[in-house]
Amino acid sequence: MYAPSMPVRVGIMCERCERIHLLVHPDSAQRIQFNSTADPHPYLLKCSCKAERHFDRTQLLPYMVAERSCDSAYADRDDYYAVPHQKSK
Ligand SMILES: [Zn+2]
Repeated sequence: MYAPSMPVRVGIMCERCERIHLLVHPDSAQRIQFNSTADPHPYLLKCSCKAERHFDRTQLLPYMVAERSCDSAYADRDDYYAVPHQKSK
């Protein structure tokens, strides 16, 4: 259910389990690693489902996240919504 008051957080989604990992949370530092030599995808996400995803900054997206998920490092499928893209015109 869409709730306009939901906080917006930047996160990276695991493509396997669709959990998003929230960048601002300190625990995410253990899940998301940066390697400046690994162009063009210098970031590596190691998800709790064991999947790994290489990504770059453009794949970090804003999500509306349920309050209860903001205190944890991630949000699962029913606890977040992608922020609709602005129409670019
Ligand atoms: Zn996962």
